[in-house]
Amino acid sequence: MTDLSLTDLAAGTVVKPGDDDWDAARAFHSGVGEPTIIVRASTVDDVRAAVRYASSERLDVMVRGGGHSAWGAVPGGVTLDLDALDDIRVEGDLVHAGGGATWGAVAAVLAEHGLGVSSGDTASVGVGGLTLGGGIGWMVRAWGLAADQLVGAQVVTARGEVLEVDTESHPDLLWALRGGGGNFGVVTRFDFRAHPLTAVVFATLGVSGDARPVLRALRETMRDAPRELTVTYMDVPAMDPNAPAGATITACWIGDDEDAARAALAPLLALEGVSETELGVRSYPDILMDMPAADPDQPMPGFVGGNTLLEELTDDAVDRLASFREANQASVLFLRSLGGAFGDVPQGDTAFPARHATWFAMAGAFDVPGLVHDGNRPLIQAEWDAIEALGAALYGNFTVSTDPALVSRMYSPETIARLAEVKRRWDPQNLFCRNHNVRPA
Ligand SMILES: Cc1cc2nc3c(=O)[nH]c(=O)nc-3n(C[C@H](O)[C@H](O)[C@H](O)COP(=O)(O)OP(=O)(O)OC[C@H]3O[C@@H](n4cnc5c(N)ncnc54)[C@H](O)[C@@H]3O)c2cc1C
Repeated sequence: MTDLSLTDLAAGTVVKPGDDDWDAARAFHSGVGEPTIIVRASTVDDVRAAVRYASSERLDVMVRGGGHSAWGAVPGGVTLDLDALDDIRVEGDLVHAGGGATWGAVAAVLAEHGLGVSSGDTASVGVGGLTLGGGIGWMVRAWGLAADQLVGAQVVTARGEVLEVDTESHPDLLWALRGGGGNFGVVTRFDFRAHPLTAVVFATLGVSGDARPVLRALRETMRDAPRELTVTYMDVPAMDPNAPAGATITACWIGDDEDAARAALAPLLALEGVSETELGVRSYPDILMDMPAADPDQPMPGFVGGNTLLEELTDDAVDRLASFREANQASVLFLRSLGGAFGDVPQGDTAFPARHATWFAMAGAFDVPGLVHDGNRPLIQAEWDAIEALGAALYGNFTVSTDPALVSRMYSPETIARLAEVKRRWDPQNLFCRNHNVRPA
């Protein structure tokens, strides 16, 4: 393997402060970064050169896949932009996606082959960050997490080696890549096992009145629902004139059987205050395109609250979540059903926590001046902390905080110890620390 340096790379690959395209190159989805240098990699050798440079200069590496996380805002270091490594290739039921590919592009290519994979819900989100952190989307009950379909990867390690990883070759690394975050190297290619998919049935139900009976009915409906069905409940405040406020249930049924989807949703449609807004067969890529993307010109305010993976959506959890939303005017409440294929994966098979969880819940009061202030902030946080205490683990991908202490709320001590051992083996210098960072054992 040749010893590459940044000076060997093609013109335009390395961007430095003062270069014409510096400002464009350092912008990411929710802000503008202040890195020391940016490498826009379009080949695996570009990635190797960037990693070797960072290692020799003792600079951290911020691997940018889809660019949606908060890590891009941490100053200094090498931003390794994988945007151009976006090749997507289908081979039988396998899809190979470059480390910088996005889910919208993957879904579009797979649709041409009558295939699909479990992904996130938004087209522009990166395959990289979402898969490495787990990846909860519309197919989570049918096919599991995005990470559950990951059967192999090409990884550039902190030493600049290129590894082909699968269940036979470096299985420790494959285990860690499935939910352990971006700690272990640069993934230049993800290999997923895809599933037959022609279309989905997508439904939106409007909800009015008290959230409690609706959430309890949702829980009962999903307890026995076919795994083709996944639902979310979302209640958002009026903040943006273009975004509808209020509560909705959104449902996705894998396949084009509209009658079966309607039958599965019938108990919800029979509830007082629940009405059908939309129900019909759609293409999966279209649904991803419809989800609102992050807008760098209108960054979301921070929020006081958090998320948790709940073993059960108990009456107590329902009451607390509904009360949180009611007590905080500009707050969001979001729930997603789990179980099904997500729960079939034995706990130790991947790094992802809480396989026994049946619901994911997130709530937060937007940090809007006048509504959240020093006087009520600790109270709101305490309200959320009491809800989080009911849960089994925090889902790292849905936190905007870069606080390293979060790792202990994301994984069990046994999983952290195992991740730290993999980290020691593949990144002892902790070059890849711009993530929910696991320190080398
Ligand atoms: C609009 C929006 C919608 C979302 N929807 C969902 C959803 O439906 N389901 C869900 O589970 N999550 C969702 N998320 C959360 C999302 O999973 C995380 O924000 C994730 O980190 C985004 O990945 P990215 O590649 O776009 O971000 P990036 O900022 O590029 O990457 C995040 C981190 O991942 C690592 N990383 C990324 N690519 C690579 C790679 N190729 N090799 C090594 N490390 C890499 C790096 O450590 C990096 O710091 C959403 C976020 C947003 C903003």
